[in-house]
Amino acid sequence: MTTTSVGIVGLGLIGGSLGLSLRAQGREVIGIAQREETCQLALARGVVDVASTQLSRLASAAVIFICTPIPAIAPTVKQLVPHLAPTTILTDVASVKQPILTAIAPLWDNFVGGHPMAGTAAQGITAAQADLFVGAPYVLTPEPQTPAASVAQVAALIESLGARLAYCSAADHDRAVAWISHLPLFASATLIAACEAEPEATVLALARQFASSGFRDTSRVGGGNPALGEAIARANREELLRVLYRYRQTLDGAIAQIEAADWAGLEQWLTATARARPDYLQTNPDSP
Ligand code: NAP
Repeated sequence: MTTTSVGIVGLGLIGGSLGLSLRAQGREVIGIAQREETCQLALARGVVDVASTQLSRLASAAVIFICTPIPAIAPTVKQLVPHLAPTTILTDVASVKQPILTAIAPLWDNFVGGHPMAGTAAQGITAAQADLFVGAPYVLTPEPQTPAASVAQVAALIESLGARLAYCSAADHDRAVAWISHLPLFASATLIAACEAEPEATVLALARQFASSGFRDTSRVGGGNPALGEAIARANREELLRVLYRYRQTLDGAIAQIEAADWAGLEQWLTATARARPDYLQTNPDSP
């Protein structure tokens, strides 16, 4: 147990889950929400020790996690800075790193970019869960000039969540997550939209009725927070387009094999994808 108090701005799925997990370890958590109703929920659910809509309440926090939606991160840091001691460490949880680092650089030196690779289809404080980060990768993207002691302090907090700590540059992060997080979101949303475009009402009704675990798994990330998807597309536009074009090209290849009735080629391709899949699930080997 430590007495270091931790601040969290934005008490939604990610901020709320951080609060639950950090408090379970005996840390004091000061939470900031934009609505009073969220403050009351956060206190009632044991997410925070102190809840407020005023950023000035974070003056005593040693480390502050910024967990607002992506567009609110830099404006929040700008409003927060006048209340901070020079030693305060800021970190964020945004799904995109390079634009955040660029926006924060002129505002605060003691900033460690971060991204937990964990989520659910639900959002808001009512979706928060204490074990959300257990076993999940949590990426930190320190810059060469980021104070090493600050990186170490944030890393220790991340490890205390039971997450699997990883490091890379912000640019490499944004390229990699375009493949395994942002492309799945848009592929999954496209799957739902394509089903919804079925012109025959009877077929559509049956499809909805028969949908089971396969559809649930493949549609989950496309059925989540629309504002987050839009913010990701804006912030990681170039990398997202790069992988979407490659995805379209790969899908065209599969269509061509089916059109050509190239069943042997199709089976070979599916054998290769089945062999490759476990390489992406190393951190969660129990996944089906
Ligand atoms: P969320 O559940 O919608 O929660 C966002 C919270 O931020 C809301 O509770 C809202 O508070 C609060 N908020 C909004 N604007 C604010 C402001 N200006 N000041 C203070 N609080 C503000 O969203 P989330 O899924 O936790 O996402 C938050 C961050 O986590 C994003 O940056 C996202 O990129 C990142 N992230 C998300 C996932 C995921 O799968 N969802 C995974 C990894 C990282 P009120 O209730 O008071 O309005």
